[in-house]
Amino acid sequence: MPRQVGTIPSQRPASRCHADPVEEQVDKRAESQVGRRAQIGLSLAPELHGLVAARHRERHAPVAADGAATLGQLVESLGVPLTEVGALLVDGRPVPASHLPADGERVTVQGVSRPQPLPGPARFLLDVHLGTLARRLRLLGVDTAYENPDIGDAALAARSAADRRVLLSRDRGLLRRRELWAGAIVHRRRPAEQLAEVLARFAPPLAPWTRCVFCNGPLRTTGQEPQCRQLPDGTVRRHGAFARCDDCGMYCFHGAHHERERAMVDEVLRTLGVHR
Ligand SMILES: [Zn+2]
Repeated sequence: MPRQVGTIPSQRPASRCHADPVEEQVDKRAESQVGRRAQIGLSLAPELHGLVAARHRERHAPVAADGAATLGQLVESLGVPLTEVGALLVDGRPVPASHLPADGERVTVQGVSRPQPLPGPARFLLDVHLGTLARRLRLLGVDTAYENPDIGDAALAARSAADRRVLLSRDRGLLRRRELWAGAIVHRRRPAEQLAEVLARFAPPLAPWTRCVFCNGPLRTTGQEPQCRQLPDGTVRRHGAFARCDDCGMYCFHGAHHERERAMVDEVLRTLGVHR
């Protein structure tokens, strides 16, 4: 419970005639607190500094606590979604996000560990602004849901919870929604860097060329000729399809576009030290 500022003077016996030095000191301390808000000293992990104003990057940076907001709400009010927070420590002790900060507490906010453990398989849901990242994750065989046009924040959060998917977004407001199963900020802007960021944070298992880039469905490698003959216009035969999606029926083709995607996949595998 938060400390009740300004209650100590009322505990003084009404009949007291002589000033007690100890009580007087307590009185002065209490009176000095009247008229100012409770304050904690907050230290954020360095990887969270980019999310907050410069004044909150100092060690034990002063932050006002009103006695009603939880520690989790206080951290979020600084600009840090709880999806980015690992342990919360008060004077070295771990506390939940529901902790009510009291005056004078020293709070440490740790970042998430990397790779970040998840309470289930690494499956993702991307907001509408991350289409290129979604395509690249699917090329690597990572289970990645993505809807375009936008289904809206409420529906995204609900789907994260219903499907147990990690919501990836650059929108911190979206990541503050309580319904989320899990979430993460995508900090970088360039898709190649975004991909590296997500792979480093969650280390999802990779299985390149097993998912459809259009719908996330499972890809089935074609025996080319039998599949080609099923198409009357010969499109697949002319362009060399190598796989077909079981869900949406789209074919994947060899060609210049495919070679660029293959180079991207090979580069990722090389960077991660995966030999195929
Ligand atoms: Zn498909």
